[in-house]
Amino acid sequence: MGVINIENKDKNKEQLLIDLEKKIKEKDKIIWTSMWVLIIISAIYLFFSILVVDFLMSEGVWQVVAALGSCAVFFILCFYILKLEICVGTYKCKNCNHEIVPSYSEAFWSIHIGTTRYLKCPKCNKKTWHKKILHK
Ligand SMILES: [Zn+2]
Repeated sequence: MGVINIENKDKNKEQLLIDLEKKIKEKDKIIWTSMWVLIIISAIYLFFSILVVDFLMSEGVWQVVAALGSCAVFFILCFYILKLEICVGTYKCKNCNHEIVPSYSEAFWSIHIGTTRYLKCPKCNKKTWHKKILHK
């Protein structure tokens, strides 16, 4: 009886871990999708605000205010997009395959091509390209 109980407990624990992992992956997927939605929204937003400010508004103080305002909103969107990007998955070092999660400022100041970022690897101490890894 005792042995069976322990086995059941271990199985339950295993199932719990599998469920938890599944939930994390689902959450990552939602965050990743919302990040892309936000990127598309930002691009459309930027396009239309340039259109409105540049072509539809007459020159003057209000045009400057509108231009600064839409820039501010655009930057807020970008900050938020980066936040979403770094809270999902990890960045894999090209040199040693070590996976890191950079801090917000590290990611913010790094050069990037898409989601591949130029970061300093804490394991091999080299500044190199880190590819974004989503654990699917
Ligand atoms: Zn490395």
